[in-house]
Amino acid sequence: MNIILLGPPGAGKGTQARFLCEERDMIQLSTGDMLRDAKESGTEMGNRVAEVMARGELVTDDIVIGLIREKLEGDKKGGFIFDGFPRTLAQADALADLLAEEGETLDAVIEMRVDDEALVARITARSTCATCGEVHNDNTKPIPEDGKCAHCGGTEFKRRADDNEDSLKQRLMEYYKKTSPLIGYYYAKDQLSVVNGLGEIKDVKAEIDKVLG
Ligand code: AMP
Repeated sequence: MNIILLGPPGAGKGTQARFLCEERDMIQLSTGDMLRDAKESGTEMGNRVAEVMARGELVTDDIVIGLIREKLEGDKKGGFIFDGFPRTLAQADALADLLAEEGETLDAVIEMRVDDEALVARITARSTCATCGEVHNDNTKPIPEDGKCAHCGGTEFKRRADDNEDSLKQRLMEYYKKTSPLIGYYYAKDQLSVVNGLGEIKDVKAEIDKVLG
């Protein structure tokens, strides 16, 4: 089963993708994570995209399509979760072609619907365990008092460089201008399901499980 989690930054795509990996043996393909890895390891491409990402703009379609192409050729396990990809109509068309080349299908597109104020509040308060990637939130799910990640016991936490209000506004603008048309695109293809991304994490998870069966 291959699925897309679609939604603006802070909708909870990464959090829900982690559950799907653990429970359904799926593979999370987050182009944002791949680009951050490239940036941290100082590859030429990583250096090229760093400034674009810091500004909250989208990197070029060619780069992210290339990243996804490489992964689709590898191990498929229980299927792929596309998280943060596609973000443009050109990427959506490219994904359809890549899946067809691999003899794969796209089985569901789940839009995680949230409102903008909740996003700003979530994103400016979030941090991630450097060891396991568990997402914490200063208000709703703070780092435990002993300073250890509740999921893996890790003690190092990271805040994303682009999780500040200025970058976030730009990321939202990019979402509404370039990514939100995908909602209509997948609706017209009869592939879209919508879940309420504003609920408790476990309720959102239950809605997604219902869609996936
Ligand atoms: P994310 O972790 O998904 O919020 O992505 C962080 C940043 O990486 C975005 O603000 C973009 O600069 C870049 N990025 C991630 N995925 C894509 C994509 N599919 N297309 C273009 N840029 C992307």
